[in-house]
Amino acid sequence: MKALPPTALTGLVDLHCHSTASDGILSPAQLVSRAKSRGVSLLSLTDHDTVAGIPEAQTAAREAGITLLPGIEFSSRWGKQQVHLVGLGVDPESVALQHAIQKRDQLRAERGERIAARLEKRGFTGALDGARRLAGDGVLGRPHFARWLAEAGHVEDTARAFKRYLGAGKCGDVTVEWPQLEQTVAEIHSAGGMAVLAHPLKYGMTRTRLLRLMTEFHGAGGDAVELLSGRQNPVQTREVAQLMAKASAATDAPQALRCSVGSDFHQPDQPWRELGCAQLPADVEPVWNLWQTSANETAATRD
Ligand code: MN
Ligand code: MN
Ligand code: MN
Repeated sequence: MKALPPTALTGLVDLHCHSTASDGILSPAQLVSRAKSRGVSLLSLTDHDTVAGIPEAQTAAREAGITLLPGIEFSSRWGKQQVHLVGLGVDPESVALQHAIQKRDQLRAERGERIAARLEKRGFTGALDGARRLAGDGVLGRPHFARWLAEAGHVEDTARAFKRYLGAGKCGDVTVEWPQLEQTVAEIHSAGGMAVLAHPLKYGMTRTRLLRLMTEFHGAGGDAVELLSGRQNPVQTREVAQLMAKASAATDAPQALRCSVGSDFHQPDQPWRELGCAQLPADVEPVWNLWQTSANETAATRD
């Protein structure tokens, strides 16, 4: 991993967001320009299971004068629980990454067909074509089915589509055998990236279970946890920090879990996850120190 340019940390940092390459509304170039106008100087584009948006984002970032870190948000599993791992600083060209992406493409295509079949059974004819049309060249996801259900007038809005048909326990909630946690950490590392546990508070787990997840993630070589995901209540942030400290102490890994931060931006009308809306407090160890450290070490070895 290359060292960050000195300008990378002069503004806000956002290490988790989505473009039209997955389920975001803005194109990669529009996303970069919005980030720039919001004062972000270090941005990572982390689309679900794809790096297809990275080249366009990279060009736009160069023009805007901000630093873009190639990233990805991998679907993964911890036992039966679905979890998301962000890979930061991955090499988009790496064979290991392409392989990990292909595996998930296959799983997603199969899931799309199964969701569609269940919706068709309920009488929603044309769900698969509709969702595929909305996904365009992007990765097909549940939000595309939600948008199609709303557009076709079957529900009032996408939130209700999830509530009635796509959310946990509903007919469109099909299980996918995503690669397991340890495997996903290894996939990210093989692609040259840092493995980050995304939005720990979004899994609806008890604190005890979350501590176990973080401990196993750290034991599997996980590098960092999103201390902040979007706008977050300070009490919750403190809880996550405490769990991270406990998880780090529980394994004999040489480095403690670092802190990452991202908005999880998908679209402009959601102020609670607007680009750059969350920033790390000054007294924590940020994940980007790992790049600065490894860059320093490389320099030292060369001398
Ligand atoms: Mn998403
Ligand atoms: Mn996620
Ligand atoms: Mn996300």
